Amino acid sequence: MVFIRDTEQSLKAAVHLVNTLPGFDGEDTLQTVEDFETYLAMNPYTGTIRRDQAEVEAVRGIRARLRRLWDVDREGAVALVNEMLRDGQALPRLVSHDDYDWHIHATSDDAPLATRILVEAAMAFVDVIRSDEYDRVRVCSADDCDSVYIDYSRNGSKRYCDTGNCGNRMNVNAYRERKAQESA
Ligand SMILES: [Zn+2]
Ligand SMILES: [Zn+2]
Repeated sequence: MVFIRDTEQSLKAAVHLVNTLPGFDGEDTLQTVEDFETYLAMNPYTGTIRRDQAEVEAVRGIRARLRRLWDVDREGAVALVNEMLRDGQALPRLVSHDDYDWHIHATSDDAPLATRILVEAAMAFVDVIRSDEYDRVRVCSADDCDSVYIDYSRNGSKRYCDTGNCGNRMNVNAYRERKAQESA
């Protein structure tokens, strides 16, 4: 494991959220409360969750800010992460709840969910920066995909996102191109 479990979970949630943005696929997959329930089912949060349209709008509103983390290098990320921690009034504390062993919550449980998601993502990126693994923060290499991902592979060799079967699709494309050239 490249990062500790809590960090990976938070990074997965951040990746999921950023990938709901309309990209090359043109679809915004976080618009309704129902869409949001899908996100929450895969990325559970504790504390107050209102599950209303205002909350969905607030969470939609932090996506572009999180997306910027994929446009910068390690140095650039420091400023972004520090801003997120400051704006979210992060105050880390150790907590243990449900089946989760000791881990960090840096916001109060009744802070707006969008703030908690932003700060949780920022805390995970703190780990990425501290462990000097920022080159694992990547955008999919497929020509027709701009989904983001974090490379958790041991040797850091992952090139495609997990959302659209991009690795297979690009392999098939390459194969077809080779065949076309052979028969040309
Ligand atoms: Zn927790
Ligand atoms: Zn992709």
